Amino acid sequence: MNHTATFVEAVVGVLTGNRFPVPLHEPSFSQREHQLLHDCLDSGFVSSVGEYVDQFEHELATYLGAKHVVAVVNGTAALHIALQLAGVEAGDEVLIPSLSFVATANAVSYCNAIPHFVDSDPASLGIELDQLQSYLSEILQREGDHWVNKTTGRRVVAIVPMHTFGHAGDMDGLLALAERFNLKVVEDAAEALGSRYKGRALGSLGTIGAISFNGNKIITSGGGGAIVTDDPDLAARAKHLTTTAKLAHRWEIAHDEVGYNYRLPNLNAALGCAQLESLDQFIADKSQLAARYRAAFKDLPGVRFVEDVGESEGNHWLNAVVLDESIYVLDEVLSALHDAGILARPAWTLLHSLPMYESCPRMKLEQAERLSRQLICLPSSAFLIGGAADA
Ligand SMILES: *Cc1c(COP(=O)(O)O)cnc(C)c1O
Repeated sequence: MNHTATFVEAVVGVLTGNRFPVPLHEPSFSQREHQLLHDCLDSGFVSSVGEYVDQFEHELATYLGAKHVVAVVNGTAALHIALQLAGVEAGDEVLIPSLSFVATANAVSYCNAIPHFVDSDPASLGIELDQLQSYLSEILQREGDHWVNKTTGRRVVAIVPMHTFGHAGDMDGLLALAERFNLKVVEDAAEALGSRYKGRALGSLGTIGAISFNGNKIITSGGGGAIVTDDPDLAARAKHLTTTAKLAHRWEIAHDEVGYNYRLPNLNAALGCAQLESLDQFIADKSQLAARYRAAFKDLPGVRFVEDVGESEGNHWLNAVVLDESIYVLDEVLSALHDAGILARPAWTLLHSLPMYESCPRMKLEQAERLSRQLICLPSSAFLIGGAADA
């Protein structure tokens, strides 16, 4: 049997007992979701006012060990406002990994700022720091409080670590680098709810963080997102900006700046509250699924299962492998997986290759380019362990 067939057989073995085709990721719901959604409907408060939003924000803050959480309509909106609050202004540059979902770059664009693409670390899939450090030393020069890109003349004001598939990179290293170049750290923790670095929740390590509750994430509120910060002023600003910048008054309807209608509806918050109760169970189940993949790939040549590195403890949101390109051809493997009813996916098309971002500044992106030729995401829904025979 050739290597591709052996790999596909190993994946099928992990997922045996489940209904095929097996999608990449689907949510799990229990009676609790029905209960809270019913209660929300019965309350009459399904939209922009209601107690579930407060409850969701409060419970998330407790879970994350963060002082403030502001719930919003989606993760992209959370990132947009997080960047704005971190001080990103029109014409600034923001360092983001090219290996990310398009929302990371789009949120920068919504601030009329410019993504500046950085490379990825093949082990953690987070931002690569060694090359970045020398790259920044070369291209930046200090002007007053800020560092300016010598080539473009623009301020470089923030860096966005994206915790790929729930894994954290070297966050201490990243925070140190950010301090050296006076960069605000805006965490794109969209995929990383429940992940930890040195015991602390991802999303709560930088100046401000963003989380997503889209339907494909580890928990879902249908659509939704959260802004996370310990800074009370930033939290108040986040709430103000995401609720149309309306001034508090018993009857007057007045606004003091251009705000956004980004508030999470109460109905979505009710679903989020129910899902949050299951988060730890989802992580436990996903950790079992990851263990099965790990065991199945152990002796396969040229297959590296993506693991947590250093002191990071991921949420196992999405299982991924890196396939040695001298042994495997990515499209052949994906095609064989799909033929076998396994709806695996490659990594995102690198952001600097998308038409709207291809002229943005960037460092050498060798690792990201290589990863994009080698990375495959495998079905990872929490319920998949139920179908599989115990190993
Ligand atoms: C899902 C995701 C987002 C955006 O979240 P939405 O809720 O879909 O807007 C942003 N960044 C990354 C890395 C994501 O995976």
